Amino acid sequence: MNPKRIRTLKPGKSGEGPVVYWMSRDQRVEDNWALLFSRAIAQEADVPVAVVFCLTEEFLGAGRRHYEFMLKGLQELEVALSRKKIPFFFLEGDPGQRIPQFVRKYGVGTLVTDFSPLRVKAEWIEKIISAIKIPFFEVDAHNVVPCWEASPKQEYAAHTFRPKLHGHLSEFLEEFPELEPNSESIEIPSGHSMPEILSNTQETGIKALLLKEISGKDNDSLFEPEHFKPGEKAARKVMESFLAERLDSYNTLRNDPTKNALSNLSPYLHFGQISAQRVVLEVEKAKSDPESKKAFLDEILVWKEIADNFCYYNPGYERFESFPDWAKKSLNVHRHDRRTYVYTLEEFEAGKTHDPLWNASQMELLRTGKIHSYMRMYWAKKILEWSESPEKALEIAICLNDRYELDGRDPNGYAGIAWSIGGVHDRAWKEREVIGKIRYMSYEGCKRKFDVKSYIAKYSVL
Ligand SMILES: Cc1cc2nc3c(=O)[nH]c(=O)nc-3n(C[C@H](O)[C@H](O)[C@H](O)COP(=O)(O)OP(=O)(O)OC[C@H]3O[C@@H](n4cnc5c(N)ncnc54)[C@H](O)[C@@H]3O)c2cc1C
Repeated sequence: MNPKRIRTLKPGKSGEGPVVYWMSRDQRVEDNWALLFSRAIAQEADVPVAVVFCLTEEFLGAGRRHYEFMLKGLQELEVALSRKKIPFFFLEGDPGQRIPQFVRKYGVGTLVTDFSPLRVKAEWIEKIISAIKIPFFEVDAHNVVPCWEASPKQEYAAHTFRPKLHGHLSEFLEEFPELEPNSESIEIPSGHSMPEILSNTQETGIKALLLKEISGKDNDSLFEPEHFKPGEKAARKVMESFLAERLDSYNTLRNDPTKNALSNLSPYLHFGQISAQRVVLEVEKAKSDPESKKAFLDEILVWKEIADNFCYYNPGYERFESFPDWAKKSLNVHRHDRRTYVYTLEEFEAGKTHDPLWNASQMELLRTGKIHSYMRMYWAKKILEWSESPEKALEIAICLNDRYELDGRDPNGYAGIAWSIGGVHDRAWKEREVIGKIRYMSYEGCKRKFDVKSYIAKYSVL
């Protein structure tokens, strides 16, 4: 494994106890650099490796659909880990407190975690660093090129980031080694066994927790969970069906929301139930249309990884201040323009605007948990046009995105919304009322691109 994928968060001498991987963003057994690194250093120190997950009751507005998707994925993960003789520990509460307690109670020798550019993870890490005495490492198991290696600064646009990312691919885009099981001959040192917590991870424990989590979070009555089956196995199947059935037409059909041409991998990528690097490796091997492969790889590499770059180097990623100067200036000039329509969060949420196309995209979101990528841009841009201010638009778009998109609460979401509403990674366009120089999208434009009536009919019929 390329050592540049790993950063030392806290140096020091490892204790004698097990290596523990605090799994957070990358919830999978296969193709997981953080787990592979943990296993490798455990093997070297002749100690076992264990995995711990810490569930918080409030996570950036996540609701029932997210908890259910994630916890079912974790149930499958626990079984897969047990086949490798790797124990899985399930904690509840603030990771900033629970992880150090766990480290102390069970004499953990070394702590590892996966990388996320979001502030919440950085805050937990800060608390943990100050509360533990053992070495603590961070592994970027989410990006193909580790975020800190791809670029040392916030990138202005995809065209500035693309050559940098491609310049690093040969160094990082490698096949994953097999994960070695814990050796039976390695005993957990006395005083370090964790039987009571282990019993918490039995199916009944997680099931009980699921029931608790899903009660009364939000009104999810329209949600149809059958669109996305959770877990690593399901993720793999979705990838395989994409490679076999949809990749070939990706380039020609991906901007048509009435066609099923996208990978549909974003919920799995978000929860780390599949590795983006695995998807890239398989797409590269596929004998599909070269233009489609190129277009898809640009999305999953350049656009996905520039989103991490944006959030990592711009910690105010969900605020007006994160927009480029030209966009802030232009939006400020038009701040007091008269809006033809102004809707509240509740009106947007219920899909009750004057525009049947926008309402259909909101229905797609409520029902399936995933708006088609082309419609996401329209969806967010109209929220800018129909809100009292750019700040309000940003707040509404992030709230609905994080509450209902299965892949929400992700750097891709913050960057995608900032692109649509604030010109991040975009350029200035012809000036208009209300939206200033932000790129415009219209109903008429959509009509020229795809069969708008059929999209509306598909999602507005309940
Ligand atoms: C307003 C708005 C909000 C968005 N919110 C989210 C979000 O919350 N979570 C999320 O994962 N993506 C978000 N995106 C990005 C993109 O729309 C989704 O990643 C894509 O629709 C997911 O569907 P897919 O996996 O079938 O896409 P595919 O086209 O099959 O793409 C494969 C993968 O490439 C990456 N990708 C594709 N398009 C983009 C993009 N524009 N930016 C960054 N990465 C991309 C994603 O990881 C995606 O899963 C948002 C975009 C916009 C404009």
